[in-house]
Amino acid sequence: AEGLDPRTRSLTERRRVLGASYRLFYRHPVELVRGRGAHAWDAEGNEYLDLYNNVPSVGHAHPAVVAAVQEQMSELNTHTRYLHPKILDYADDLLSTMPSAVDQIMFVCTGSEANDLALRVGREFTGGKAWIATAEAYHGNTALVSAHSPSLTGAEEMDPALRVIEAPDTYRLGDGTAAGAGAWWTARVAEAIADIEASGDGFAGLIIDSSFSSDGIFLGEPGMIAAAVDLVHAHGGVVIADEVQPGFGRTGTHFWGFERADYVPDLVTTGKPMGNGFPVASMAARREVLEAFSLKRPYFNTFGGNPVAISAAQAVLDVIRDEGLQRQALEVGHELRAAVRELQGVHPALGDVRGSGQYTGVEIVSDREAKTPSSAVALDLLEELRDRRVLTSVCGPNNSVLKLRPPLAFRSTDVPRLVEALDASLTALGV
Ligand code: PMP
Repeated sequence: AEGLDPRTRSLTERRRVLGASYRLFYRHPVELVRGRGAHAWDAEGNEYLDLYNNVPSVGHAHPAVVAAVQEQMSELNTHTRYLHPKILDYADDLLSTMPSAVDQIMFVCTGSEANDLALRVGREFTGGKAWIATAEAYHGNTALVSAHSPSLTGAEEMDPALRVIEAPDTYRLGDGTAAGAGAWWTARVAEAIADIEASGDGFAGLIIDSSFSSDGIFLGEPGMIAAAVDLVHAHGGVVIADEVQPGFGRTGTHFWGFERADYVPDLVTTGKPMGNGFPVASMAARREVLEAFSLKRPYFNTFGGNPVAISAAQAVLDVIRDEGLQRQALEVGHELRAAVRELQGVHPALGDVRGSGQYTGVEIVSDREAKTPSSAVALDLLEELRDRRVLTSVCGPNNSVLKLRPPLAFRSTDVPRLVEALDASLTALGV
């Protein structure tokens, strides 16, 4: 590797030492060394606008989170078989943001672990094993969760009892309204339930990201999927609300995705934004649902809910409230979409601009009339944006939806920079 530039060298070294499974972003991957708010810097001191990070959700290197972690780390960190007051205070605080029926919580380290536990708890409670999930869903990396993450089709074997349904595509479905897409989706859920009941597999329930992130970001109108959830409950299933993406104020209108979607879940899983980069995650539950599992089985998670993890999580919750970040997400997200919509007048590739709060999907199309998705343009656009130091990515079944999901610390003053980069990138591509 002698004589190669440092980035090429680091790519070669990664492949040699880390193996071939990891995927990096970009044809020319970025090496970030420092971050503040919604901004990050590479080793050469170039500054980037970060539009693809719900991990440092309250802002890169937020001083309050750093201080909380440092303080607790210098006091004590240990496994989770001892009493500690912070875990109870935080549990109460987080549960107070949820419906009163959801009144117990367990702590783990990743979204994958939270969903793994939720699938097990749900199976125990219902006695069924057949879940419904959406076509492009990703819920995590354990064997059980991978088998319920249809986006991994081809790479992983799906659970034989899993029923996969399309997401409610508010851009292309029904009568063009969120209500139309909601009614369409309720019918898909009804079909899946009927299929499960006819097969004798035993209905476990629905695992759902209420923002349909990897399906293409379909937040629709609040309440769009509530009728489908009622149907799941009426047939004895449980609903796992995977809040790894929409949770912690991101949608601006509500603190939780399920709250925006206007239903009460049986199990709520959280992850990424919960600790601003410190690994902490959770599974909250309705007591009777959890007890079917917890009264029967012990569960141990060495790092899950340790004092440092809980300190990070508490600091995040406090910062969201103290800095009014949910409200900021609502307002700045609105400005962002309005500004991107103005570009639709000059760039026909911008087919649809949708979202809520700091969660925006921009559909990239080759024909706006026909709404033809263009993965080729979307992928080139990512590289153009990267060259203009704006970091983002794509999602959806065709990888044609630009996903704008910055830290909640993204401000009004960051909007023009994004819009200029987007405008220049689309112009460079001639779309
Ligand atoms: N659920 C959703 C909706 C996710 O987006 C992810 C991560 N991309 C996960 C679960 C898994 O979380 P983790 O990577 O922390 O295990």
